[in-house]
Amino acid sequence: MTRTTTRAPLPAVGRRVLTVDRVTDLGPRLRRVVLTGADLDEGFPFARFAPADHVKVVLPDPATGRVSLPVRTAAGLRTPEGEAPLVRDYTVRDYTVRAWDPTARELSLDFVLHEHGPAGRWAATARAGDQLGVMGPRGHLMFPTGYPFYLALGDETAIPAVARLLDELPDGARALAFLEVDDAADELPLTARDGVEVRWVHRNTEGSGGLERALRAWAPPAGTDWFAFAAGEAGVLTPIRRYLRHELGLPQEQVDVDGYWKQGTAGLDHHGDHVGSD
Ligand SMILES: Cc1cc2nc3c(=O)[nH]c(=O)nc-3n(C[C@H](O)[C@H](O)[C@H](O)COP(=O)(O)OP(=O)(O)OC[C@H]3O[C@@H](n4cnc5c(N)ncnc54)[C@H](O)[C@@H]3O)c2cc1C
Repeated sequence: MTRTTTRAPLPAVGRRVLTVDRVTDLGPRLRRVVLTGADLDEGFPFARFAPADHVKVVLPDPATGRVSLPVRTAAGLRTPEGEAPLVRDYTVRDYTVRAWDPTARELSLDFVLHEHGPAGRWAATARAGDQLGVMGPRGHLMFPTGYPFYLALGDETAIPAVARLLDELPDGARALAFLEVDDAADELPLTARDGVEVRWVHRNTEGSGGLERALRAWAPPAGTDWFAFAAGEAGVLTPIRRYLRHELGLPQEQVDVDGYWKQGTAGLDHHGDHVGSD
């Protein structure tokens, strides 16, 4: 039983070019892309209760549909030495490792379908046979297993991580998730586990700030230690983080808030401090 989030780096960062086996629409705005290929023959690093683990997807060159994997240099992402450059600019985005099936050797990523960026648009037209580069994960972010209660909050981009958190909860733990989506059509049957509840917040009727208002209206479990995870649009999360840390007084090690995207910013580097600090 652990009480803090711990990082478990991997000895090597995987570099894979995978093929879309199939796509499944989980809802009108969320699409599962199931990936296969020889680069998964040796397996894939998947750790239980590391729900925020993610990979960098490398989009194919729009002209050729081919994928070339960059290397990270001091000057940014570059073509490995000795390889002919296939693309001028690499488009690389973060996606949660939603599921890994070691028997079928299939990796599943869930994409929010939106028109504002290349990854959202790629997913909207992805079909069997398409190529996708997948780099990482660099390591596992092991969530603490020692709490009797877990709170999760987020928007559509957080659904894959929150779904994993609810699926992989430590035995006997209870959980509540607040998930903000456009409307009832976006709700998903995430879990049927005892002691786990999902409350959907509809932004089309609630307007902005609905997630924070839902959180503020909730009474935290009295006399119980708990852990909170929140992910989604950075600006929406800023007051949520402040509330958890400074109004509810949750210690830093019991809160993990991660800006997964930021309105108006392409390719957000989530390692920056986008949701405020202590
Ligand atoms: C650790 C981590 C895990 C993530 N896991 C997932 C995941 O499993 N599934 C998932 O769908 N996303 C996930 N995201 C979020 C995803 O990386 C971003 O949404 C990313 O910006 C999408 O890239 P893009 O090329 O579509 O848009 P970008 O080129 O990055 O952005 C272009 C424009 O689109 C806007 N934009 C970006 N994302 C969205 C959105 N979701 N809705 C509306 N507008 C948007 C930006 O504000 C910007 O103005 C994750 C992010 C992180 C950091």
